[in-house]
Amino acid sequence: PVNQGKIVIIGTSNVGSAVLNKIADFQLASEIALIDLDMDRARGEALDTSHAMSSPYSTNIKIHPGSYEDCKDAAFIVITAGPSILPGQTPDRLKLASTNTKIMRSIFGEITKQTKDAMIIMVTNPLDVATYVVSTEFDYPREKILGTGTMLETYRFRYILAEHYDMDPKNIHGYVLGEHGNDAFVAWSTVNCAGFGIEHLDEYFHAKETLRREDVEKGLIQTAYDVINLKGYTNTGIAMVVCRFVKAILFNEHTILPCAAAMKGEYGMNDVALSIPRMLTREGVVRSFEVRLPDEEMEKLRRAQKSVRAALDGAGVK
Ligand code: NAD
Repeated sequence: PVNQGKIVIIGTSNVGSAVLNKIADFQLASEIALIDLDMDRARGEALDTSHAMSSPYSTNIKIHPGSYEDCKDAAFIVITAGPSILPGQTPDRLKLASTNTKIMRSIFGEITKQTKDAMIIMVTNPLDVATYVVSTEFDYPREKILGTGTMLETYRFRYILAEHYDMDPKNIHGYVLGEHGNDAFVAWSTVNCAGFGIEHLDEYFHAKETLRREDVEKGLIQTAYDVINLKGYTNTGIAMVVCRFVKAILFNEHTILPCAAAMKGEYGMNDVALSIPRMLTREGVVRSFEVRLPDEEMEKLRRAQKSVRAALDGAGVK
């Protein structure tokens, strides 16, 4: 039987350790098992976070280095294994396709020997390639696999717009959709703030400068590479995104968030994974929504499909 409080994290470097610590601090698990090719790293992270369990701020969570056997009764498996783009490298996550496809196949081969019940949260890049590979090459329930996708770009977008209007980013609604990467795009038609549509924001919120949509779109993509070039990697924003998905599923929230999954005919697409708004419950991804996109946004979604498909082809994925 599934232990609703158990989470396995695979890959315990920058991203995996940040996910571990946020899950622990938000008390979203009672047991966390850590797996890495480098088990010393997993052991070190397990010990370090366990030392915080003495604090009155901590729930006493059992955190330990693990093996794939731990997947057997896990409620969630978060996959963050495999290299990232490094500072100074070509700013395109799709370059990681061949390397990380191999790693995903090897990890998912191990997981499927143990379980078909855990909710899988994909984080490894190229996110849409990784999500597509594990969804289509293994006999695993599709509704139980999601990629964090453009939830992170959506958070970045809300932050950038909120800075422009000097307000709380949680007041900005709307989605970034498409590829997690250079072909993410703002679905401007979905954006509003305090009930005002995007075309009224400059007027009502007294921005110093007019909002330039192209700058916002470029900015929300570039900002990831800025973080990588400045601190070496990104991990805090993505860890928060993982927690958002864990909470939505654990608490059966029926919440709608943009996230990646292998497309099942939405917008006529079948050959890639991409992010669109999807409803999450304890069963996983129960509905996907085809937002009505104007022509120019539909064009951007097709461009994202082409890029992800080309990366899949390059990595030899059918
Ligand atoms: P990293 O290179 O620092 O760490 C990768 C870890 O994976 C290492 O500890 C390595 O030992 C481990 N690993 C490699 N192969 C493995 C295998 N077969 N089994 C188990 N462990 C294995 O990378 P990082 O900075 O922690 O980033 C991890 C991944 O997350 C990268 O692919 C990165 O691009 C991605 N990422 C995604 C998002 C997102 O929004 N989806 C955001 C940030 C980072």
